[in-house]
Amino acid sequence: FDEHMNKKAVELLEMENDLRYAIERNELELYYQPQYAAADCRMQGVEALLRWHHGDKGMVAPGNFIPIIEDTGLIIPIGEWVLRQACKDMAKWQKAGLAIDRIAINVSARQFKQPGFINLVQEVIEETAIDPNQLELELTESILIDDLELTLEVLTRLRAMGVRMAIDDFGTGYSSLNYLKQFPVDTLKIDQSFIRNLPMNSDDAQITRTIISMAHNLGLGVIAEGVETEEQLKFLQQTQCEEVQGFFFNKPLPASRLIEYVKNKTSH
Ligand code: C2E
Ligand code: MG
Ligand code: MG
Repeated sequence: FDEHMNKKAVELLEMENDLRYAIERNELELYYQPQYAAADCRMQGVEALLRWHHGDKGMVAPGNFIPIIEDTGLIIPIGEWVLRQACKDMAKWQKAGLAIDRIAINVSARQFKQPGFINLVQEVIEETAIDPNQLELELTESILIDDLELTLEVLTRLRAMGVRMAIDDFGTGYSSLNYLKQFPVDTLKIDQSFIRNLPMNSDDAQITRTIISMAHNLGLGVIAEGVETEEQLKFLQQTQCEEVQGFFFNKPLPASRLIEYVKNKTSH
């Protein structure tokens, strides 16, 4: 009996239980982080990032609860909430004439492989009347590794609906280049671990250049995430990376702050 481990286990169980009620208690919120064209720093879209405001614990970062909701299956209702809320927000922004042209949503493997996933996406697009071209789903490389036939089918059907697909955290998994060629995806998101030490670290610089030219050879776009400095941005501009996202531009913002920011930007 290890008291520390016991305490951890109890805490985990408590979190799990609290997460079951997170939706009905209105404790979930989406933050949005803008994505920019590298060349002229024009905003291209935003990525929705989930936040959990826990009654006692305060704000809990997704790294601390996404794994729990994935394990327990709570990712299914919570993921549905995210998709619907993000598309609702997008529809509202468009009605208000805000220049936000694309919304990216993170989808976990379990959610993607759920039988009702395609129907859910279709339903939410119809409900909110957003243009499917303006919806981008961010998938992890792990989705591309197992269940290849199912993955290809789901991707193909989503693509036929007009939805865009990005591979998140690219370079950290083991996706086969052969499949990458076959899968209907639009964008690779270079993982922030490669961007962090640019341009000084020559290995990371070489990996980044390689991912960018490989993406271009396959006809895909590239987004670099975790851009924090001007030097990193310059390097990415020189290497023809299309888009950038990171604290250098903005931290993820609550919807109200995003609206304020976009309004200010367009009035200048
Ligand atoms: P991700 O999708 O790769 O998102 C990027 C993460 O990097 C975000 O962390 C973002 O806040 C952070 N970030 C952005 N710019 C910078 C930067 O310049 N420097 C640094 N150090 N970090 C930066 P966050 O919001 O904590 O999310 C972590 C992960 O949780 C996400 O990684 C994603 O995998 C997952 N996640 C977030 N929201 C959802 C969701 O709604 N559904 C699912 N399935 N997963 C989600
Ligand atoms: Mg993402
Ligand atoms: Mg990522």
